[in-house]
Amino acid sequence: MLDFDHAQTLLANAAGPLQRREEIELNEVAGRVLATDLQATVDIPPADNSAMDGYALRVDDWRAGARLPIQQRCYAGDVPEPLKPGHAIRLFTGSLIPDGADTVVMQEDAVEADNQVEITRAPAPGQHIRRRGEDTMAGAPLLAAGAMLQAAHVALLASQGLATVPVMGRLRVGILTTGDELVPPGTPRAPEQIYNSNGPMLAALTRGLGAIPVHVLHARDTEEELLAAFKTLLADCDLVLSVGGVSVGERDLVKPALASLGGELSLWKVRMKPGKPVALAQIGGKPVVSLPGNPVSAYAVFAMLVSPLVRRMQGREDIFPPVNLLPLRTEHPRQDGREEFLRVQRRMAKDGTAELVPYGQQGSGVISSMPWATGLARLPADVLVNDGDRVPYYDMRHWLA
Ligand code: AMP
Ligand code: MG
Repeated sequence: MLDFDHAQTLLANAAGPLQRREEIELNEVAGRVLATDLQATVDIPPADNSAMDGYALRVDDWRAGARLPIQQRCYAGDVPEPLKPGHAIRLFTGSLIPDGADTVVMQEDAVEADNQVEITRAPAPGQHIRRRGEDTMAGAPLLAAGAMLQAAHVALLASQGLATVPVMGRLRVGILTTGDELVPPGTPRAPEQIYNSNGPMLAALTRGLGAIPVHVLHARDTEEELLAAFKTLLADCDLVLSVGGVSVGERDLVKPALASLGGELSLWKVRMKPGKPVALAQIGGKPVVSLPGNPVSAYAVFAMLVSPLVRRMQGREDIFPPVNLLPLRTEHPRQDGREEFLRVQRRMAKDGTAELVPYGQQGSGVISSMPWATGLARLPADVLVNDGDRVPYYDMRHWLA
């Protein structure tokens, strides 16, 4: 048996980042991983400009009660004239600052009439001017390789005029579900059968991380079907996930199938609940991770053990999302020989602080607990956890992104 942290590290190191790179259109980059460090090539803003609707003038030209003639009305996108002595230029947010002006007065502090303006409050030098390069200087680091690009990054890349961006290739994931009892949703079901939850779930989890579920295959519990499916997935995918059939039952044939494909089995049982049977094999340089069949276990194992590996292969910088310590509300102090991951909801307590409330039924077959839970609370093995004790909280919004 491996402890959880050890298993997490082993899995996260089961493969390196993909070698594939692509140059794609800016409009397509949200959800993709930046492949190289980028430097700014343009100063942002590219020129001094006004932060306000108002007037540009020289501080020295200001006198209480005096009126300055308006030399030009300069809109954003216009070219300002050099400011004549004793004049003001009407400006708007984003208008360039005229040569010779050293301050901007906002229109709320001005009274305009007959093409003249009276400034009603003494201006300070440099006020309301956004300086060239104050946001980003050309040559400065812009974004680091490994960033998961989102709308905020897109704005920054666009500000540099980039129409295309180098990104990592999309991780191709193959999914294999196993079990004679399973039928796909949308088909008739005999009383002894159940619907296949893990296939659609793993496909959704894969997409949620920005990877592609290339195939979602199903194999009955025979070595031939398992072998054929694994071969297809290994031929087409960077990472293969199988689910079910990896325990010690008579029909648990995943392990022998992996062995007959020449797979080197790197780990077998993880001291965690739910989710004990987890296996990692390397076949032809590709990692195969075998998850436990119970959907709750598969979900937890995917979130905490597989997602760091997916992020690593995607070339992402942060592969372990944050874990926060939060108080657990529990009526029954808990203790177990394995580390236990409870499905919990993060809630706001009356005093405004966050707390964790466990779902009533914690069985590894209880699928209804999954959409209810916002995350998993980690309880140490062999330590009694009492009401209000702070425990590590794995927020699924982060661990599944
Ligand atoms: P196994 O590890 O194959 O023994 O599966 C453990 C439990 O999970 C059994 O009750 C299976 O019926 C169930 N199970 C396995 N795969 C799936 C799946 N794809 N969808 C729903 N339940 C599953
Ligand atoms: Mg099975």
